[in-house]
Amino acid sequence: MEIKNYINGKYENPISNEWIDNYCPANGEVYGQIPNSSKADVEKAYCAAKSAFPSWSSTTLEERSRILIKISELLEANLQQFAEAESKDNGKPISLSTQVDIPRSASNFRFFGNAITQFASESHESIGQDAINYTLRQPIGVVGCISPWNLPLYLFTWKIAPAIAAGNCVVAKPSEVTPMTAYLLGNICTEAGLPRGVLNIVHGLGNTTGQAIIEHPDIKAISFTGGTQTGAHIAKVAAPMFKKLSLELGGKNPNIIFADCDYEDMLETTVRSSFSNQGQICLCGSRIFVETSIYDKFKKDFVEKVKTLKVGHPSEAETNIGALVSKEHLKKVLNFIDIAKQEQGKILCGGNKVTVEGYENGYYLQPTVVEVSSDDCRINQEEVFGPVVTIMPFNSEDEVLEMANKVKYGLSATLWTNNLKRTMRMSNQLQVGIVWVNTWMLRDLRTPFGGIKASGVGREGGFEALRFFTEAKNVCIKY
Ligand code: NAD
Repeated sequence: MEIKNYINGKYENPISNEWIDNYCPANGEVYGQIPNSSKADVEKAYCAAKSAFPSWSSTTLEERSRILIKISELLEANLQQFAEAESKDNGKPISLSTQVDIPRSASNFRFFGNAITQFASESHESIGQDAINYTLRQPIGVVGCISPWNLPLYLFTWKIAPAIAAGNCVVAKPSEVTPMTAYLLGNICTEAGLPRGVLNIVHGLGNTTGQAIIEHPDIKAISFTGGTQTGAHIAKVAAPMFKKLSLELGGKNPNIIFADCDYEDMLETTVRSSFSNQGQICLCGSRIFVETSIYDKFKKDFVEKVKTLKVGHPSEAETNIGALVSKEHLKKVLNFIDIAKQEQGKILCGGNKVTVEGYENGYYLQPTVVEVSSDDCRINQEEVFGPVVTIMPFNSEDEVLEMANKVKYGLSATLWTNNLKRTMRMSNQLQVGIVWVNTWMLRDLRTPFGGIKASGVGREGGFEALRFFTEAKNVCIKY
């Protein structure tokens, strides 16, 4: 299958005429080609977006809202097709793409379609000055959206939906590793009546197509989700041009378990927060800290449960752990397991590749639990982004807080306790952008999302995303 760029409402081949193979992680076979779009392709997408901007930015909020909600409905109507494409492209279990990825992508359009109608300007009377102040929120113009491979359509639409809802026109690039659902989205946008040029999707490698987007002097804002190193590079390139940036980057999230938690609920959720999507979610709790008094029991129960997870072909309904996204990524994760062993980490379960019958060349790995004796080791400090978690005991709140905060990342943390005062104390002191207490991945789309430290700059979600994709202009009138 040949994937094409979606520019000015039409699918077309890249001007570059360069193509990249697209692999299916479940069997390691090439199943398509995607464009490696050049600077000229990005320029073409930019010109289409620029031409569409005057009209789109003056379209009524109701009309924008109507189109976004229509896109959402069409995604829901085509859920099966999108879910199958997502699983095939990414390797994630079909249950996940059917129940989470595609419904959430549809929700992104519905949510921002509604939110934009509630996103009001502010006005203030300047008391005693016979003046009134009001603040306009104006769209920026042409913006760039760049997304990763782990939640392909979910994160792609999490950026595009607020960008176009706010009246911008977009040049967007999905990950070259998982281009399929972004490709299919073009048709849905056309069918929903999104005017030509409002959304332009260019495919290609980060250092060619992505680089052309971030270097473009007239693409005024970049919303990026991906690795910390790429984020730092983008910030460097964008700084001299004063581009507005939102960077959602890596994580190494602590999952802190106190003895007074609801044990069964914690155990079940911890399996999910460790291994959902093969551990390839930026929010996965990859460092598990357990209070000493329940450590041995937890270790036994957790490992027992992890061993029951079924590694299998993504299209099978009973699969819990699908394939990792690529051969290179599998190699990277296996290398981390070797490093853990060299650092005296004890592999409690997993640690090896899995051969799934009939799909011997697929990128399958056992869910892996490593017991570590110190929080300083590399497996506990660096982002693995695979089905690998570490566990270690702790004795006190202060001790675990120090270990939890002692990484360069600061995305999310999960806390398991029924002690309210401790919940408040720790939530205040954890150096992260998101704290979950007695739950994980419960998301309200109205709330801010994002991290601190090496996990990023800026917030997405709710009005935060609409603020990012607009410029505030204050007008003060003396009467
Ligand atoms: P990546 O940084 O390699 O790539 C992300 C995107 O950036 C891709 O589309 C890629 O083509 C593009 N890119 C790469 N180089 C570029 C360049 N020079 N200029 C412009 N674009 C460029 O990340 P990945 O491997 O696709 O994704 C995994 C990472 O994403 C992990 O670190 C994970 O934690 C992170 N992530 C973070 C969040 C969050 O919300 N904080 C969510 C999901 C994933």
